[in-house]
Amino acid sequence: MTSTGAALDRQAARPRGRPPRHLADLTPDARVREVQALGQPAFRARQLATHYFAHLTCDPADMTDVPAAVRAPLVAALLPTLLTPVRRLTADRGRTVKTLWRLADGAAVESVLMRYPRRATLCLSSQVGCALACAFCATGQRGLVRNLSTAEILEQVRVAARALVDGDVPGGPGRLSNVVFMGMGEPLANYARTLAALRAVIAPAPTGFGISARNVVVSTVGLVPGIDRLAAEGLPVTLAVSLHAPDDALRSELVPVNARWDVAQVLDAAHRYFEVTGRRVSVEYALMRDVNDQPWRADRLGRLLTARGSGWVHVNPIPLNPVPGSRWTASDADTQAEFVARLRAHGVPTTVRDTRGSDIDGACGQLAGGEDE
Ligand code: SAH
Repeated sequence: MTSTGAALDRQAARPRGRPPRHLADLTPDARVREVQALGQPAFRARQLATHYFAHLTCDPADMTDVPAAVRAPLVAALLPTLLTPVRRLTADRGRTVKTLWRLADGAAVESVLMRYPRRATLCLSSQVGCALACAFCATGQRGLVRNLSTAEILEQVRVAARALVDGDVPGGPGRLSNVVFMGMGEPLANYARTLAALRAVIAPAPTGFGISARNVVVSTVGLVPGIDRLAAEGLPVTLAVSLHAPDDALRSELVPVNARWDVAQVLDAAHRYFEVTGRRVSVEYALMRDVNDQPWRADRLGRLLTARGSGWVHVNPIPLNPVPGSRWTASDADTQAEFVARLRAHGVPTTVRDTRGSDIDGACGQLAGGEDE
């Protein structure tokens, strides 16, 4: 745990508002205008972008190619502090790290970094809270506070990438290989900023962090117009859709936005996404005991998916993670195994998601951004 005490308390009292201006929110032209307003040559904009996206630093001391006297004003104007770590919890012998961040206006979000033998994945937040109110999700219980800016999303990536490079995560110096938009918030409800962040995550340095698009996943509750819009952007990122039930009666209970876009509409949009991008879609299904884990629901899901084609989708059952006050629990092991076996029998590739971070409330659906646990 880290805490910056009084400074954070003062920030916490400030009203929710716009984050400070940041290089990662600006177009290359706007960055040039900012450095010129400080009396600096245009090429400083590219130098700063290189420090940010390639060297992963905002520290004036690292910027030895910039005259010492102008480093601080340039950093203050274009690379202000957006995220301050409030608390860091670790699990899996340090290889899973959940960080609670305080934003400049006092709002809070969480991100989770998970290191595996051959990859390191950051699960990041796209909004403070979430408006969609899925019954079993901790983030949804608190409602939406505000959207994150593009730079606030990207700053989560920069800090994680830097921690790996610096060897701060056990396993020696490493590289951030995967980014999943599966933390707090609904990325497609913060579309423009999510899209700009996606572009910068996958663009090569110094325009972006250079993470392979095929290692980037955007997870959505199923906002159909957003799925179609994303498909048309020409970015080969993977889409995940949070289905959780194959029938509208149950899905409407679990995922209220089902009343607007139902199971068939969401699956049709997911299939269109596959057709346009060629990227296999992931269907997320949090398994809840005696709620959505019956064999008939596995069969129904299998039929719905195969009816739309083969090879376009795989299912990711997620053992339900405990959320305070929730009336649901995870399915037992036999039920889960039967559910998986039935989907596979329909020819649908199915892999159960690991529950990394559940002991630090850092797993799917457990991010609430609170300091009171
Ligand atoms: N809003 C987006 C991004 C969140 S991703 C979305 O809905 O997809 C987080 C995933 O974890 C979603 O599939 C979500 O439905 C799921 N989830 C939420 N609460 C959960 C819980 N308690 N246990 C397991 N998975 C949960």
